[in-house]
Amino acid sequence: MAEKIIMMTEQRADTDRAPAIPAQLETPTGLLSDRLARPLHDLRISVTDRCNFRCVYCMPKAVFDNNYQYLPHTSLLSFEEITRLARLFVDHGVEKLRITGGEPLLRKNIERLIGMLAELKTISGKPLDLTLTTNASLLARKAQSLKDAGLQRVTVSLDALDNDTFRRMNDVDFSVDDVLKGIDVAHQVGLGPIKINMVVKGGMNDQEIVPMARHFRGSPYILRFIEYMDVGASNGWKLDEVIPSAEVVRRISAEMPLQPVAANYTGETASRWRYADGSGEIGVISSVTQAFCADCTRARLSTEGKLYTCLFATSGHDLRALLRAGRSDAEISSALAQLWRARGDRYSELRTSQTEAFKRERSANKVEMSYIGG
Ligand code: SAM
Ligand code: SF4
Ligand code: SF4
Repeated sequence: MAEKIIMMTEQRADTDRAPAIPAQLETPTGLLSDRLARPLHDLRISVTDRCNFRCVYCMPKAVFDNNYQYLPHTSLLSFEEITRLARLFVDHGVEKLRITGGEPLLRKNIERLIGMLAELKTISGKPLDLTLTTNASLLARKAQSLKDAGLQRVTVSLDALDNDTFRRMNDVDFSVDDVLKGIDVAHQVGLGPIKINMVVKGGMNDQEIVPMARHFRGSPYILRFIEYMDVGASNGWKLDEVIPSAEVVRRISAEMPLQPVAANYTGETASRWRYADGSGEIGVISSVTQAFCADCTRARLSTEGKLYTCLFATSGHDLRALLRAGRSDAEISSALAQLWRARGDRYSELRTSQTEAFKRERSANKVEMSYIGG
């Protein structure tokens, strides 16, 4: 294990370079598009690489143990740095910001950052879609202050309703009731519509698919099932542990018939299904069995300010270096434009067609979800 930890730390230090500043600076138009004609619409911001859970598919205990080297505080982007970068992204057309981690509610004074981001406006002068993904461990306590700061809604991760199964998934003995309480408080203070994300890992929590659907059917919450992904280098992912979304829909439909619903907008990651009796809808996110790279408009900003143009990238672009070298807004903005135009990532589409050797080489170098932000 020690070998693995050293490898990941070195990877962060060595391969990620500060992006070049183009000779010709440009004014952002909000109309950037990449090599596959994909616009830049969403920015996910990881505010901490730490978490109080040890979900088996994300931060397994065997790797993220007491010896794991988390980033020192000085490496993290400050709230001012995050807000400045977010503004530059918004000038390039970003309309949606998602705060994530690690566990974002562990970042001290996170409400202050929310307040700063809530002030930003899209290029057409509208408020941004500002949301946050959380394991809900601190949500009951923080929901009101997050709402007051300007957060619009939250997405909550919950992998089972059965306590023993949930505890096996989070591996820190956290109970389902506490998550459900966090969800209810968030709903009461108006942080909705709330989405509930369940990562399905075959042989661990797939028996919870139907009970979860039953529980949230007819509730104000939208349940979404996520295929277990080969993200990062430490979860020991195997294809046969992925339960395809088609199977999730089949199992639920056998008891509660479902019908497909048209997407809300291009690039929506979840395919929507509604209960035939009108009692609500679910979503399925088929990152493995039905890649949606062609519509992927997301950029990710890591905890220490590296830009990743794909969840499965093996290196990032060091924007913090530009910020701390005193580069101007125009310089950083032009560098961002150049990076997005060069983007050709489509890992999930390639995953199915590449050789085993390619996949092995990739999986040794991929960054962790907790660092890059889910
Ligand atoms: N800690 C917060 C949480 O769990 O909601 C935010 C960060 S977490 C990395 C963001 C999302 O990524 C969660 O919904 C989590 O379930 C999902 N995730 C993490 N590892 C995953 C994997 N290997 N496959 C699919 N989803 C994963
Ligand atoms: Fe923590 Fe979220 Fe990863 Fe679970 S999925 S270990 S809660 S960051
Ligand atoms: Fe986007 Fe990369 Fe995921 Fe494809 S694999 S959907 S490009 S993040």
